[in-house]
Amino acid sequence: MIFAANFKMNHTRASTREYLERLEGILRVEEYPFKVLVFPPATALCEGTDHITVGAQDAWGAEHGAYTGEIGLQQLREFAIDTVLLGHSERRHIVGESQERIAEKFAFYREHGFEIVYCVGEPLEVRKEGFEAVAEYLWEQFDGIDLDYERLIVAYEPVWAIGTGVAAETEQIAQTHDELRRRIKRPVLYGGSVKLDNIRSIAALENVDGVLVGSASLEVESFHGLMAAVAPGQIDMD
Ligand code: PEP
Repeated sequence: MIFAANFKMNHTRASTREYLERLEGILRVEEYPFKVLVFPPATALCEGTDHITVGAQDAWGAEHGAYTGEIGLQQLREFAIDTVLLGHSERRHIVGESQERIAEKFAFYREHGFEIVYCVGEPLEVRKEGFEAVAEYLWEQFDGIDLDYERLIVAYEPVWAIGTGVAAETEQIAQTHDELRRRIKRPVLYGGSVKLDNIRSIAALENVDGVLVGSASLEVESFHGLMAAVAPGQIDMD
């Protein structure tokens, strides 16, 4: 199972360092069979630890160049980073990133062998139209994306569940992940208000391979609590 923490525009360089040290200390002792990824803001990028992979929340699809405000391969290499999150809904819907731009970034980082956490998710108006509309919307977000890329991790994050405190219903998550599984053989994470209350039922779903967590990842105790809740021997398979 994969646990990914998206800090968004939270944490500083100093607090990220402290977070990683504390989490690494816990993971070293508890030896969970989980892959753990942390995505701090760009100013706090640093090398990962023995048990934690540090990745970038986004990056431009170029080595370096005239892209004001962006970071690219040169900046990521300085910290030996080879994991990048692409297509997060906040970039699609707030920043206005197009599918074409996201696919260009994907192609660039694929070319450079990066692990890519690729996010998709439908807005509420699409969800209200029914599941067929959801499926169609999601598959369109894979335009230009190589689904067979061996370092691909997909994150399904319904836009209406992100940062709202209201996760999708377990049945909605199950149905959507089953649909994605038809064509995606790589891990598929669920994201959107994952917290202690719902982690066990979400993690127990057959086609959920992990979680991408925003709010509940910001404190080490809270993120660790999610892992502890589904550690082997804890998971509720009902
Ligand atoms: C996210 O932004 O990727 C996310 C899942 O946020 P939250 O857990 O706060 O809904």
